[in-house]
Amino acid sequence: MRELLILSVLLGAVLGHEDFVGHQVLRISAADEAQVQKVKELEDLEHLQLDFWRGPTRPDSPIDVRVPFSGLQATKIFLETHGIRYETMIEDVQSLLDQEQEQMFAFRSLFTSTESFNYATYHTLQEIYDFMDILVAENPQLVSKIKIGDTYESRPIYVLKFSTGGNNRPAIWIDTGIHSREWVTQASGVWFAKKITQDYGHDEVLTSVLNTMDIFLEIVTNPDGFAYTQSTNRLWRKTRSHGTGSICVGVDPNRNWDAGFGLTGASSNPCSETYHGSFANSEVEVKSIVDFVKNHGNIKAFISIHSYSQLLLYPYGYKEEPASDQKELDQLAQSAVTALASLYGTKYKYGSIIKAIYQASGSSIDWAYNQGIKYSFTFELRDTGRYGFLLPASQIVPTAQETWLGLRVIMDYTHRNPY
Ligand SMILES: [Zn+2]
Repeated sequence: MRELLILSVLLGAVLGHEDFVGHQVLRISAADEAQVQKVKELEDLEHLQLDFWRGPTRPDSPIDVRVPFSGLQATKIFLETHGIRYETMIEDVQSLLDQEQEQMFAFRSLFTSTESFNYATYHTLQEIYDFMDILVAENPQLVSKIKIGDTYESRPIYVLKFSTGGNNRPAIWIDTGIHSREWVTQASGVWFAKKITQDYGHDEVLTSVLNTMDIFLEIVTNPDGFAYTQSTNRLWRKTRSHGTGSICVGVDPNRNWDAGFGLTGASSNPCSETYHGSFANSEVEVKSIVDFVKNHGNIKAFISIHSYSQLLLYPYGYKEEPASDQKELDQLAQSAVTALASLYGTKYKYGSIIKAIYQASGSSIDWAYNQGIKYSFTFELRDTGRYGFLLPASQIVPTAQETWLGLRVIMDYTHRNPY
């Protein structure tokens, strides 16, 4: 075990991996509004280099934060001084990362078909891109690959199109992985792609959806960020663009959309994890989707998939004012989470972004909704914090399976309720 540890440290050093030895993830429970405010003060202490996995919002909602070893003592003393309760969710972030790497390494295998592809492990960007090509080759009558742009670092941005014919049919948009560290989402996207090809002609709901509609699926929505999570920093969330006037890299691609851009619920600090960028659509990864959706002009549902927290959210995030379709969206969300829970009992909460979590401006589904795409939703997949972004690979398939049931309800409803 010790040799393995040394090996992984060496390997990490060779590959230039950022190491998280001794980093902990603390779950903080603020008892009242005053304690929430105290935790917000902690957020402003940049020298502690805290990484909030779930930020402070209100007393009833847990706060998860990754604390580097160097800031651990100061953070704990701060919390204790103010009488704020906390527990350690992850003792040592690096040991979870080591396990994840070993798992990926152990199950890495050549695949020549989507049957021999291992859905129960995490994959590299190249493997996912290879998977897409193989899926297209196996199902040329159903699946095609569209390049919608190039990333900041010049990687191609691909969308899979599932279509049984027609011309510019009404369509459903699904994206996974816009936040690169949310690995279970890209992995689920891969599983969804395969599932669609398997179920067409067999599952009644999906078959009738695809007989009149198209599905677009962007599995790796932030390719630069995803590559960076594998080469350098597993916990990278943002894009990899370099702005002017700051040493910090990247923009939060889910604060960069033209919907309440720059309002409360995003940061103007380029070093923040929720930096909104210098202007709306500054990120080519966002702009490519905006152009695609606008040019298409017939997208009827827009579903953006994140992790973690087990939530199903609808607009708005940037304002308190309820969406004009709030009642319908709420009912549909309820049906979707009920279907999702039917498989493994996984419980989801649902509601508008601003009510269910916090004010977030410039998010994709607010933009989509304002474009007239009524059925706009965000999923936050498993779990509720035990592993957070580091969900074990053994949970990929169950997560994808249950999420599919929720997606299927939304797709079915969209199909049966044209507008
Ligand atoms: Zn996210």
